[in-house]
Amino acid sequence: MGKKTKFSIDLKLDHIKIKNVTIDKNGDYHIYAACTATSITCHKCGKIIIKPYGQCKETIIEHLPILDDRVFIHLKWPRFICTNCEDKPTTSFHPDWLNENGGCTKLYEKFALKNLINSTEKDVAEKLVITEEIVAGIVNRNIVTTINWDEIFITRMGVDEIALRKGHKSYLTIVSDISIIGKSKILAVIDGRTKDEINPFFSSIPKRIWNSLESVTVDMSACYFSVLKDTANDDVIFDRIVTIDRFHVAKLLGNAVDKERKKVTNKLKEDLKSEQETLEQVKSTMWPFRHHPDDLEEDDKDRLKKLFTLAPSLKECYDIRENLYLIFESNLEKKDAKIKIDAWCIMAMGYKTKGHHPFEKFIETYYRYQENILNYFTHRHSSGAVEGLNNKIKVIKRRGFGFRNILNFAKRIFLDINLKNQYIPNLQST
Ligand SMILES: [Zn+2]
Repeated sequence: MGKKTKFSIDLKLDHIKIKNVTIDKNGDYHIYAACTATSITCHKCGKIIIKPYGQCKETIIEHLPILDDRVFIHLKWPRFICTNCEDKPTTSFHPDWLNENGGCTKLYEKFALKNLINSTEKDVAEKLVITEEIVAGIVNRNIVTTINWDEIFITRMGVDEIALRKGHKSYLTIVSDISIIGKSKILAVIDGRTKDEINPFFSSIPKRIWNSLESVTVDMSACYFSVLKDTANDDVIFDRIVTIDRFHVAKLLGNAVDKERKKVTNKLKEDLKSEQETLEQVKSTMWPFRHHPDDLEEDDKDRLKKLFTLAPSLKECYDIRENLYLIFESNLEKKDAKIKIDAWCIMAMGYKTKGHHPFEKFIETYYRYQENILNYFTHRHSSGAVEGLNNKIKVIKRRGFGFRNILNFAKRIFLDINLKNQYIPNLQST
């Protein structure tokens, strides 16, 4: 290689001077250096001490790779002795650029974390040729999952649960800051979803935050409700901000209507046993029935039409569901939405099948949570952002299948969601 392809670079490490550089058979750089520090703060009394007291044994510190070759710095840290303290303790020198356990530079830790985003500890360990324990240590030291409320300004909060393992009844509660679209952040990953489990976090929220909140989007979990009520400690604030997610409302109604569909179609299937051709029309109607007319292809619409001809009551049921959907899609103000939904409830109550009322339970729930359901019409905050975060978390969960513990999982969630832009500043937020 000609001289013109060479240049020198700054290692960005102060307090050392390079004595010698060798390249081993793998092409890795070994930089032998000496420490130039002449003083240090006594770890006991905090005074500056300057009297040298030998050196620590040689330490090897991994630094950022150069042209894809690994870089190791070999040096011995000087020790200083304190003459102020009675027992004359010694303190060894450590520069700011060294990581906590002295094994690599902080820049290297940052580099490893950047590699870890959207990846696994195992993958990063393999690529950087270090152990998984080293990667885990880097995560542990650098990712903090507690938040400093003083640094937070938030207008929209989301609270949702995520199932850890199917069928194990183990859940995490995810609290998120969804104030800025596309820039959602995790505020807490809580192990569990019961009152006792989530109360400590919500109790830590300062009054200033409660006052600045426009909405807290939740599902209808009674537990989230009662904890929010207790910790907001102000009924006016609670009534104003706690907003039941409209998609949870829609889901509740959808389930009720779907139950009716099942009941009616099963009856039809029984009645039409001998009429094979007509029976075919009842089949494969679940999907189109569950969707809005605008989302349906022509053949789905046809199928639905045939079903409705056989069971006109289902058409009525479907339309009632869609009517509520249209109210939520409208630009109504809260007070007008309230009037519309009251009228909708009366209409829905008019729908009756033998001995069974598909809308009764839904309407009961609506009136129980009315204020908080109607809050949607104030800011039109839905859980779209929360769902987006949930999907990201599910991907992290799947990718990391064997998370050692919840804290480790939480740290990875914080890294991949909150700290992504910090480690990859040029990344376009998605
Ligand atoms: Zn001292």
